[in-house]
Amino acid sequence: MNNRPKRRKSRKQIKRQKQIMAIAALIVMIILVIAVFTGLILLIKKVSSNEKKPSGNTTQNTESNKSTESEHNTDNTSEPSSEDTTTSAKIDKSVWFLQLVNASHTLSATPDIELETLKNGYQCDKRIADDLQDMFDDARAAGLNPIICSAFRTHERQIYLYNLEVENFKKQGYSDEEAKRLAGTSTAVPGTSEHELGLALDIVSASYQLLNDEQANTPEQKWLMANCYKYGFILRYPKDKENITGIMYEPWHYRYVGKEAAKEITEKGLCLEEYLEMY
Ligand SMILES: [Zn+2]
Repeated sequence: MNNRPKRRKSRKQIKRQKQIMAIAALIVMIILVIAVFTGLILLIKKVSSNEKKPSGNTTQNTESNKSTESEHNTDNTSEPSSEDTTTSAKIDKSVWFLQLVNASHTLSATPDIELETLKNGYQCDKRIADDLQDMFDDARAAGLNPIICSAFRTHERQIYLYNLEVENFKKQGYSDEEAKRLAGTSTAVPGTSEHELGLALDIVSASYQLLNDEQANTPEQKWLMANCYKYGFILRYPKDKENITGIMYEPWHYRYVGKEAAKEITEKGLCLEEYLEMY
């Protein structure tokens, strides 16, 4: 008696259970399908974004270049990128402000350049005068007092200075050969000095005018070393490049190389020889 309704109940229960299971299975399947779909979409997005990466960057660069075009013209401020390398690769090494003068690239005479006489009587290549003035104006605006202690020198003047140095060493008891070698480490051998180009300036602090390593610790040199590239200048004979430049560390000798080169040289920690070697 009791069995029948019981059996009927259980049959109903089984039916309901089957229905519930079917619904559950359906829900699980739907969830699985959604999960697989989402996964696929994410995968596709990832793949396509990877493919687009290089061209995406170029677009970004072009856009940022456009927006800073005026800045580019005056300052050439741009982050190092593949595009910059392409631009830099086109650099003309024979341009006047990149002329290399060192022991193996010598001048035989004073170059024929138009000179600008500065307020202090020193002379430099007329074409760098404006940038030089801007650098000094900004340094002074920062409360500093840099002064030029050497600028353009004729070939003849360089010969005179070099011979003077050789004589000094000879007086100290060095042989002619040794005196010449030693003189060459502190005073450029005639024809190897950038001062003959009119593109180099020795700048010191008004409060410390000695040409030695201590010069680097003056606020003027700290400012110049950090900012000179903005005006197209570089510290030409850095401390760690003596073996390449052949000249001892000179934390006062600044050389004009143009704003683009000055920025790249500074950012990459190069000396002029290394920079020109790259192209
Ligand atoms: Zn110098």
